[in-house]
Amino acid sequence: MRRRARHSGIARVNDRFSCPNVIPGVNILAPNVRFARNASPQRDSSMTQTFDAAALLQLAQDAEQAGFATCTCCKSPLDGWQSQPLSLDESLLVQVGTLVDAEDPEPTFREFLPAGSSYWAPDAPIAPRFYPYNRSDVWKCTSCNRLFLRYTEGGGYFVDRRIRSIASKLIVDAAPE
Ligand SMILES: [Zn+2]
Repeated sequence: MRRRARHSGIARVNDRFSCPNVIPGVNILAPNVRFARNASPQRDSSMTQTFDAAALLQLAQDAEQAGFATCTCCKSPLDGWQSQPLSLDESLLVQVGTLVDAEDPEPTFREFLPAGSSYWAPDAPIAPRFYPYNRSDVWKCTSCNRLFLRYTEGGGYFVDRRIRSIASKLIVDAAPE
């Protein structure tokens, strides 16, 4: 895993993970492994619906049109990528699909960030063929039907489950060169 500049921005995350034995909450991160690409031989891509930008857009628009109830899942703002808040009740979430292209053995680490945007920005584009969207799965809150992307950011020295809500207006169908 190459080190990327934005990792320096999450020092507090590293701190949290540097002493897992004394942080009770870290135990719940063990299932992270299930979401890491290639980490799970049980991952059955034939059973997982793969969304491209158009399909994701449709899904998001349909959900937004139906409307969202008030819900605890978004107690912390998730407009941009966040470390998954401990307050988030994971039992509310079900996976509805993935943006991971099972045919692509080496998804790009390039990010699609037009001028002025950044990885963490609440208005950063959601570009399914770019990092980290190309490693993300699509989840839904069963209580309010809000849609989220989740993936595990990580390398040799830390792992961090990240989550971001899906807003249809941010979805772009950009292709790596
Ligand atoms: Zn919810």
